[in-house]
Amino acid sequence: MAKNKSKNMLKQYLLQNLARMHDEIVQFTQELVKIPTENPPGKYYRECVDIIKKQLQKFNLPTRVVHVNASDSNSYPRSCLIASYGEGQKTVYFHGHYDVVPAAHKNQFRPAIHKKKLFGRGSSDMKSGLASMIYAVRLLQLCKVPLNGRICLTIVPDEETGGMYGTRYLIDTGYIKKARAVAMIMPEPTSGAIWHACRGAISLMLKIKGKAVHVTLQRQGINAFEKMVALVNALLRLKAAVEKRKTDFNVGPGESKNSILMLGGICRCGTNFNIVPGECSMTLERRINPEEDFTTEKAALFNLLRRFQKKGINLEIETLQEGESAGITSDHYAARALAENIKRITGSRPQFRMCPGLLEIRYYIKRGIPAFAYGPGLLSVSHSPDEYVPVENIYNCAAIYALTAAQLLSQNKIK
Ligand SMILES: [Zn+2]
Repeated sequence: MAKNKSKNMLKQYLLQNLARMHDEIVQFTQELVKIPTENPPGKYYRECVDIIKKQLQKFNLPTRVVHVNASDSNSYPRSCLIASYGEGQKTVYFHGHYDVVPAAHKNQFRPAIHKKKLFGRGSSDMKSGLASMIYAVRLLQLCKVPLNGRICLTIVPDEETGGMYGTRYLIDTGYIKKARAVAMIMPEPTSGAIWHACRGAISLMLKIKGKAVHVTLQRQGINAFEKMVALVNALLRLKAAVEKRKTDFNVGPGESKNSILMLGGICRCGTNFNIVPGECSMTLERRINPEEDFTTEKAALFNLLRRFQKKGINLEIETLQEGESAGITSDHYAARALAENIKRITGSRPQFRMCPGLLEIRYYIKRGIPAFAYGPGLLSVSHSPDEYVPVENIYNCAAIYALTAAQLLSQNKIK
């Protein structure tokens, strides 16, 4: 009883102080939306990093800019920001990305508020989320909430193109460490759910090269299409086998629980009806459930493709994207703390779901750090021409993050 009372007192105290910062939070979100950090190709990253860094320094948070060393990132330099608050061994990560997908129209970089919604590219995915996590730290700082540990803010580019020069870089170079990490929370636009799992993905472009000749000379040519049909038949047998498997994780309405192998998202073939097709290409999309072993599934797929290459078929394989699956139980104490604080602030208990796409929690989970996505944005409008975020969600998320970090880093011993 006493514990609940003190929890409610902390909540009220934080909310009162947060209310005084509402205008400032929205203003900061708008400042971020104004910077067209479109990725690809990765524009205006430096300008965005400067604004965030200035804000963190205004709050006296030790901040460091990590320049990403990558040969092909030179034309558009990549940098990550790391800041921390509090002292001690345990660490809660607040992790977010500042790149956005390219705008549908120029007005998307002129943020506007209409009927309590903030419109603009990145308003939902995820510049509002960056504001929520930064102001959650500011709130704990202003309210002098005692923490047994620290919050580490990791702010990265390149999430929209796979995270190679963002999150992956910080993990590989040891800036993000498993030792003493309690949990990671990231503000992806989850529409009120908590994402605690994601499917892995292998996206391939398959190209068979043959020899184009006139139909009347077809015996002298090599029909790339007919070779592709043979390959497709083998892939359909693999599809039938893998798609029998279902995930135990909760998925969104209308989404499939089955593992996925989809063929032919893009197909290109031939030049004319009377010419033997000299080239045939097709994409393949493999989405791997968290319960499946990524390495085993990748090997099964590539073994099949290599068998065709060994038969003398001129098959080229180009990997368009690749990312591992990941998942963590919703019973984890950090998951329960996050869900409980969402309920306390919004009034409704969130559902736990598997994210329909790739999600950067995978980098943390693979290294043994429990990681979850929950943010102010809405998935349905993210990346769209009318992207917006309900303004109230930005404040709510700041309060939720602050309360969750306070709980996970409470002075009492953590379970
Ligand atoms: Zn995002």
